[in-house]
Amino acid sequence: MPAGHRLPALAAHDAHDPPIVRRQHAGVESFQPHRHHRARHRTHHPFGQLYLITCIDPRVEPAAVLGVRLGEAIVARNLGGRVTPAVIKDLAWIVHLHEEKAPDADWFEIAVIHHTDCGSALLADDDLRAGYAARGGWDEQTSLKMAVLSSKTVQEDVAKLRSTPELAPGIGNIAVGGYAYDLATGKVTTVVQ
Ligand SMILES: [Zn+2]
Repeated sequence: MPAGHRLPALAAHDAHDPPIVRRQHAGVESFQPHRHHRARHRTHHPFGQLYLITCIDPRVEPAAVLGVRLGEAIVARNLGGRVTPAVIKDLAWIVHLHEEKAPDADWFEIAVIHHTDCGSALLADDDLRAGYAARGGWDEQTSLKMAVLSSKTVQEDVAKLRSTPELAPGIGNIAVGGYAYDLATGKVTTVVQ
């Protein structure tokens, strides 16, 4: 490559970069790709084959809460961490790939994690829900079902994963667990397994 076309070196603290780029560059300084590569192939690694479904709330970021590192888990996040049609469609693709391309390989596990003080609980507010539906969000009835008010939603979502036709028959081979994360204590507890 001609010298004039060489890519610029990473400027770790360029004040003109948007915040996410500056943060990423700071992370690059401590990133050790070879160590991550070895970790992924350790047979005892707890997150080697995990499909995680959790909330978009920044307080439940999986790397911070569970110690999930780069390359260790597929993470699906949405409002509440609910099993929506979109979540099922992505998961169905992974299940399909597994069935077609790696039928003899170990299956991954699925973990649904809901949390206390979830902002989705505000979907139970009649006025907020009506306004959200009016702007094209979930319809009011669906919104009400989406609200995470207790660990009951974890049970509902695990049951949905186990019974949805899009995931059959592969889901029968997959360990599906439902968990609750308590923001006050920082502890994850098992709701259904
Ligand atoms: Zn939440």
